[in-house]
Amino acid sequence: MRTAVVVGAGLGGLAVAGALARSGWQVTVLERADRVRPEPTAVVLWPNGVRALHALGLGAGLDAIATALPDGGVRRPDGHWLVQPRPTPADRMPVVVHREDLHDALIAGLGDRVELRTGVAVDTVRVRPGERPAVGAGRHLVEADLVVAADGTDSAVRRQLAPEAAVVSSGSACWRAVIPWYRAPRLAADQPLGGEVLGAGYRFVAASLGERGSSGASRRGGIYWVATAAGAPRPEPPETQLALLKRWYAGWPAPVGELLDATEPADLVQQEVRELRPLPRVYGFPAGPGGVVLLGDAAHAMPPHLGQGACLAFEDAATLSSLLRESRLPDAVQAYDRLRRPRVATVVRQTRRMSAVLQARGRLALRARDAALGTINPRLLSSAASAAAQWRPPTPTP
Ligand SMILES: Cc1cc2nc3c(=O)[nH]c(=O)nc-3n(C[C@H](O)[C@H](O)[C@H](O)COP(=O)(O)OP(=O)(O)OC[C@H]3O[C@@H](n4cnc5c(N)ncnc54)[C@H](O)[C@@H]3O)c2cc1C
Repeated sequence: MRTAVVVGAGLGGLAVAGALARSGWQVTVLERADRVRPEPTAVVLWPNGVRALHALGLGAGLDAIATALPDGGVRRPDGHWLVQPRPTPADRMPVVVHREDLHDALIAGLGDRVELRTGVAVDTVRVRPGERPAVGAGRHLVEADLVVAADGTDSAVRRQLAPEAAVVSSGSACWRAVIPWYRAPRLAADQPLGGEVLGAGYRFVAASLGERGSSGASRRGGIYWVATAAGAPRPEPPETQLALLKRWYAGWPAPVGELLDATEPADLVQQEVRELRPLPRVYGFPAGPGGVVLLGDAAHAMPPHLGQGACLAFEDAATLSSLLRESRLPDAVQAYDRLRRPRVATVVRQTRRMSAVLQARGRLALRARDAALGTINPRLLSSAASAAAQWRPPTPTP
């Protein structure tokens, strides 16, 4: 039986571990944390991410927990529409999912061929000609036919195999929260969720997780919001961070103020936005009869402005498992590298263009941004949608 070691039990690691196990592999997942527990936030999945999950055999689980996210347009902090909401064709409509629900669905997909070991921090990787690949954690060495490095932005495996890829700050911080329905504000009919507001270096996005009063698509329903602000993360306690957010977003169009008022400090999840610059030059490293691949944020951490990080991790997992069904192991590792690098480069390029627009500060830059949003918005703002629409899971060769 073919064996795999997956380093990291995040969204990417769990997705690929389950897919390999379902195709008959014996899989060991090594996770640094003592418990596999996601943040209490949500994630937007564009159609590419949804398609990838379906290709991985997780479509039914996803459908049960996802809420459709209609286009809510883009406004300025003075309420002026930069981009009016537009009807979105069903096949280009993203969905939003609570991360804990998604984790539960991925864990349910692991089956009994996956051994999950927590509290194991991988610190080395072995890639030598003629030998099976292996990872080390302290004095322990775990060998397998395939090693999947899904250990996130600070990946120890990537640092060793692709030291050219550096983790850098993107110059902004994000705050996220899910306000459970029982204390979520009741919004007027003219204050729909789903849109975003863009200011000078600031952005606010909100979405519904399920519907108030119904059992809802998500078991952890409520209102999810994300606030992005240029600058470093704040060292103050959550109470002060929330007070700062209320000051920064004061006067922004409804429902921004109502949502911040309904948020409790314990709801807040703050994170520095970081990315890999440059990206790794290689995503697949053949080793003896097998190899090592980089997957998810370990391979391509990027700012979340297009909501594509997790979607790409699922694409990686779907591509790898499809290639492994078709080809010999070292060939599949090389094919994975060939297929994933150009795809990732395209999405990262679009994300960086979006970063420049979102982070425009200063009057001239803002005027240029607003003009750009007003005139080329369909091209620029639908870049996420087009990136999403472009990807299809690899089809087996006849
Ligand atoms: C504010 C924000 C909003 C976002 N919104 C979206 C969105 O709407 N849509 C979207 O598609 N993406 C979004 N993303 C991106 C998305 O969250 C990530 O791309 C995705 O979670 C990456 O998953 P991963 O499994 O690759 O890495 P991670 O989730 O980072 O998982 C890595 C795992 O590896 C473990 N680990 C790390 N080092 C080691 C080690 N040495 N040994 C063993 N285990 C280790 C970690 O503990 C962790 O469990 C967002 C990101 C941010 C910051």
